[in-house]
Amino acid sequence: MTDTPFRIENGYLSDTEYCCSPNCDERPLNTPPRLIVIHSISLPPGEFGGPDVRRLFTNKLDFDEHPFYSEIRGLKVSSHFFLDRRGQITQFVSCLKRAWHAGASKWKSEPNCNDYSIGIELEGTDTEGFHVDQYASLKRLCIALTECYPIEAVLGHSHIAVPKGRKQDPGAHFNWCELSFLSGIETPF
Ligand SMILES: [Zn+2]
Repeated sequence: MTDTPFRIENGYLSDTEYCCSPNCDERPLNTPPRLIVIHSISLPPGEFGGPDVRRLFTNKLDFDEHPFYSEIRGLKVSSHFFLDRRGQITQFVSCLKRAWHAGASKWKSEPNCNDYSIGIELEGTDTEGFHVDQYASLKRLCIALTECYPIEAVLGHSHIAVPKGRKQDPGAHFNWCELSFLSGIETPF
């Protein structure tokens, strides 16, 4: 991985694999993203490196393939970005569109965070730490996003999901101090 800064043009991150997810729609008019929401995901839960997150985000997951998948059968979700354990980034939805990542949510009394947020999924679980390469990519991505959009805050899914307690990700092992360099931007710590 190089340290070349990322750029975002027309909603797409430079030098990044794009895998189109249909699970998105238009943002409300005049609503640029102003919130970044950090998630964690792994499919099957706790297993890393497989193709099933990509399959889920592209509606190609075989829900009969694993016992856990019966709990998410028919789920149509996506995120703008997915960072695997090596920090490799895949973009699934243009930043100009609304990815379906947050579900029922609220920030500063404003509901429906998907309308005005960018969703970033880190491959992982709610109960273990993340890889140094994921933090490195996340930092570069956050820099590019804050340079391009009027981002005011970076929060976890657990902070904005309603009702409170509905979601735990990215979990207690996510190190928010890694994002402390983002001056002027609200974070949980
Ligand atoms: Zn989440």
